[in-house]
Amino acid sequence: MQIIVCIKQVPGTTEVKINPETNTLMRESVAGIINPYDTYALEEGVRIKERSGGEVTVLSMGPPQVQESLREAISLGADKAVLLSDRAFAGADTWATAYTLSAGIKKLGTADLIICGKQAIDGDTAQVGPGMTEFLDIPFVAFVRKVEGIGNGKIKVERLMDDGYEVVEMSLPALITVVKEINEPRLPSLKGKMRAKSAPITVYNADDLGVDKQKCGLNGSPTKVDKIFTPPPRGGGQQLSGSASEVADKLAGLLRAAQVI
Ligand SMILES: Cc1cc2nc3c(=O)[nH]c(=O)nc-3n(C[C@H](O)[C@H](O)[C@H](O)COP(=O)(O)OP(=O)(O)OC[C@H]3O[C@@H](n4cnc5c(N)ncnc54)[C@H](O)[C@@H]3O)c2cc1C
Repeated sequence: MQIIVCIKQVPGTTEVKINPETNTLMRESVAGIINPYDTYALEEGVRIKERSGGEVTVLSMGPPQVQESLREAISLGADKAVLLSDRAFAGADTWATAYTLSAGIKKLGTADLIICGKQAIDGDTAQVGPGMTEFLDIPFVAFVRKVEGIGNGKIKVERLMDDGYEVVEMSLPALITVVKEINEPRLPSLKGKMRAKSAPITVYNADDLGVDKQKCGLNGSPTKVDKIFTPPPRGGGQQLSGSASEVADKLAGLLRAAQVI
């Protein structure tokens, strides 16, 4: 079973500088961490490998510093690590990111199952996983809380819904995005840490992937982040005191004064 887990390196802090020209995050300016939802994706990939055999490859698109997070992923049980890195990939929106990651998966050849996190904690769009299935022409289920079984070329999963869950079965190759209820990520083993130190990381640039650079990075992004700013802190609000009807009267008065009612 060839399992590919997509992990994104995200800023480990909110103190991130923003590039004033492109309005994108200057990711090199801060230490990065593995996107929390992707640690659940990686854990699930390793558990499926332990149950069904096969190999787990972690795949990421980003600047050279992402190699640190890929090494961490190896210490957590991944067998191979691949980084897609090129200046042409910088500033990508979700469409351009999905296009480039899909090209990376095609370059790696056979993938039976692709696992993504529910969303990234910086862009927060939850769009990349489903977007990749457009380029790879494979089925997907998002918000997976349990992998019930894999066999006969199919995977059966439980998808988290607002009012419960659904059981869905689909043919492989396929993609799932996982929620944090799916498992408890393991800690790195000493053996894993040792292996991660010397493990080779394959790095592909745009030419290696044979991608159309006009479809990558900021150039290939239909969505442009217009402005990123920290919203001003909200005012302290006003405490109303008195009996319930007195407070109700005061509130009605304030709302009328504000012409809300
Ligand atoms: C504040 C902010 C707002 C943004 N708003 C938008 C927007 O509205 N529209 C838009 O198109 N772009 C937006 N972007 C850009 C967006 O963050 C990037 O396109 C990013 O590469 C992917 O989107 P995401 O972070 O939302 O990831 P998500 O779609 O939330 O990520 C879901 C999963 O996809 C995988 N994944 C995502 N990125 C990578 C990667 N680089 N390498 C490997 N796996 C990955 C991971 O498994 C991850 O858990 C925004 C960025 C920021 C910082």
